[in-house]
Amino acid sequence: MSPKPAYRRVLLKASGEALMGDQGFGIDVSVVDRIASDIREARQMGVEVGVVIGGGNIFRGVAVASKGGDRVTGDHMGMLATVINSLALRTSLVKIGVDAVVLSAIAMPELCESFSQRQATAYMNQGKVVIFAGGTGNPFFTTDSAAALRAAEIGADALFKGTQVDGVYTADPKKDPSATRYERITHSDVLRDGLSIMDAAAIALARENHIPIIVYSIHEEGGFGAILRGEGRCTVVSD
Ligand code: UDP
Repeated sequence: MSPKPAYRRVLLKASGEALMGDQGFGIDVSVVDRIASDIREARQMGVEVGVVIGGGNIFRGVAVASKGGDRVTGDHMGMLATVINSLALRTSLVKIGVDAVVLSAIAMPELCESFSQRQATAYMNQGKVVIFAGGTGNPFFTTDSAAALRAAEIGADALFKGTQVDGVYTADPKKDPSATRYERITHSDVLRDGLSIMDAAAIALARENHIPIIVYSIHEEGGFGAILRGEGRCTVVSD
């Protein structure tokens, strides 16, 4: 019999950049398909999965602001980018037989349902993968903060932060070969040392709600499932 997964309900945060693969921009469907198949594996283990996707592969609000434009409008554009990515992931999940729904923080009823905590929880209880689009719905926030917020709202046991590397290191492992990976650190360590895992608001929200953050490589096929089985490589940020 396969072991009981380490977590019952999780929130997965993938940055928009993770979806673009080797391209410099946009969406590489084969990468989205691979992430979808990792999510399917988690569902097959009985784990309930919520997902927040960033929009950095398409647009970030700061790009407008840095050229003298209106930051709020830029952030609206960034939030729209997350909706595009969310729809791409839903398509990939549905294609492989995973029941998935997109709930957006910004109402756009022709494209997807609007977010409410009650509806999100109801769908998760039914075993649907819920993709939270539109970030928090507010400018000046990030999808990292949206991920911590949605994790708290759905009562997630853990927030999985898919990154470029398989955890948090003492130094950049690409530049310093002697860098070692932390097995475990605390939210407070991350904030105190300014470790760039997620933005500070997201870490603080996770700490306040006692939600562990699992930092792992989103590029490793099957990595998500392996960690859920208690086998994969990652860093656990917890109390
Ligand atoms: N954004 C926002 N409010 C939110 C989430 C996102 O205004 O609650 C905007 C912001 O402009 C951000 C962009 O959407 O730069 C894309 O999100 P993010 O940078 O978090 O994406 P990622 O880096 O994860 O791809």
